[in-house]
Amino acid sequence: MPGNNPRETILILGGTREAADLARQLVGGRPEARIITSLAGRTKEPAPLAGEVRTGGFGGAEGLARYIEDNGVTQMIDATHPFARQISANAAEAARLTGIPLEIRTRKPWAKQPGDRWTEVETLEEARDAIPPDARVLLALGSQHIGLFSTREDVHFVVRMIDQPETPLTLPDHTLVLGRPGDSAAVETMLLIAHSITHIVCRNSGGKAAYAKIEAARQMGLPVIMVKRTP
Ligand code: NAP
Repeated sequence: MPGNNPRETILILGGTREAADLARQLVGGRPEARIITSLAGRTKEPAPLAGEVRTGGFGGAEGLARYIEDNGVTQMIDATHPFARQISANAAEAARLTGIPLEIRTRKPWAKQPGDRWTEVETLEEARDAIPPDARVLLALGSQHIGLFSTREDVHFVVRMIDQPETPLTLPDHTLVLGRPGDSAAVETMLLIAHSITHIVCRNSGGKAAYAKIEAARQMGLPVIMVKRTP
């Protein structure tokens, strides 16, 4: 810990609603500490965050370790998305390199409830292959995973994204919906009905922000092809 910066400095690896909630709690509850949230920079206009924000990759575990030392970070909290595996691995390595404590706050996966019609699969490839012919699918995945589904020429995909993608989607037959996930089952039900969705494909990310579509699917009796967490 550098001697020239005795102030407690907490680095939150963020990009999730839970990380934003945590930043708000820490800024309110620990006024003596410096609270920094790190974002990868994938979203053009992220929601406002309490405390300081820094944006963009660090340059691997070594880059993150350098950032920790340069900024006198005394504690790191990994509150990233559970499928964001690289940054979590980098955080563990950077904590080892610098000797600072790392707290891991990964959301619990959603548990299947009575009425849920889930087909659980291990990988996105298995999810793609589990879609029945001629389905109409809400593909609730990040833009980097969409291309994998372009071989399914028989399927109509509805893709929801926060920002307009920089390059057109390669899916042969699709509708792009711009916006954030709905925050209630009622809002998500409207989307599912409006697009005559027959299946949802998503990953078991857990948390509240993306759960409304799962509740909507349960209420409508819609099947969900769910990519499980792997250790
Ligand atoms: P990833 O595969 O684990 O990370 C890829 C690279 O992006 C990392 O090596 C790192 O670059 C940079 N990076 C990731 N998170 C960062 C952060 N919080 N601050 C600074 N750099 C970060 O991650 P991903 O799946 O692309 O997700 C990127 C971000 O979006 C994460 O912060 C995550 O919490 C958020 N997010 C992801 C998803 C999802 O579906 N995966 C969903 C919602 C939100 P360097 O090696 O150069 O440091």
